[in-house]
Amino acid sequence: MQALAERLDAAVGGAALTAVEPIGFSGLKTFTPPPESLVGRTLERTGRRGKYLILDFGGPRILVHLSQAGRLDIEEPPKKTRGKGSVVRLRFDNGIALLVREHGTERKAGWWVLDAGDDGPLAKLGPEPATDEFAELILHGDDRRRVHTLLRDQRTVAGVGRGHTDDALWRAQLSPYATLASLGADDRRRLLDSVRAELDEAIERERARTGGLSQAKLGDKFIVHGRYGTPCPRCGETLRRVSYESYEVTYCPNCQTGGKPLADRRMSRLVK
Ligand SMILES: [Zn+2]
Repeated sequence: MQALAERLDAAVGGAALTAVEPIGFSGLKTFTPPPESLVGRTLERTGRRGKYLILDFGGPRILVHLSQAGRLDIEEPPKKTRGKGSVVRLRFDNGIALLVREHGTERKAGWWVLDAGDDGPLAKLGPEPATDEFAELILHGDDRRRVHTLLRDQRTVAGVGRGHTDDALWRAQLSPYATLASLGADDRRRLLDSVRAELDEAIERERARTGGLSQAKLGDKFIVHGRYGTPCPRCGETLRRVSYESYEVTYCPNCQTGGKPLADRRMSRLVK
């Protein structure tokens, strides 16, 4: 998302908004101010907070959240098509448009139009991983939740998410089920360094990419996330997973859980 924000800034930073065209499923999460009220305003800054892209029009802001299946195309020149999955097209006076759209049928990408001073969904986000506040939480916090749960919680830390959580815990050689409160000083330091290294490398990868911008496409760049059944890149042991309704945890039983596989309810049902 950081690299995406940088590319948007290069494409439409300093340009004025000429049209907002909601298409098909709109995904607009706010009623006021109306999107058209931003037409004529200059995009002064683009940024990121957690997984939200922020387009700052000198006070009023548009937020975009792509979720798992969303993507954002920079159209130069803008297209007229209203392709399947299109959410909204923002046109700018420099002849470039941004198209937010969705892969497949999941309707999860959303956008918000916020008045100056309104933080909308950003108000609920925890600190960024690069902040001292996050370091304090990891190094000295007594949170009793599992580290996997804690890192995925956007109210605790913004923008890590499932994939990077799996990879960061693999880097730190910690069990996804370890609780933060149970970790010693060395483990905590390694966890903090691992989360930051994971996200720094992800930004570098994304900066190097060209073409359409999406979160889903980054999936094939994870080290262990989503790669259960393949060899651990560190030790060669087969990566395992624990499956939940809407996500799964991937880990190496040799590097992270002392050789012991974690209980997987779905698997054990199948075995019985
Ligand atoms: Zn391993």
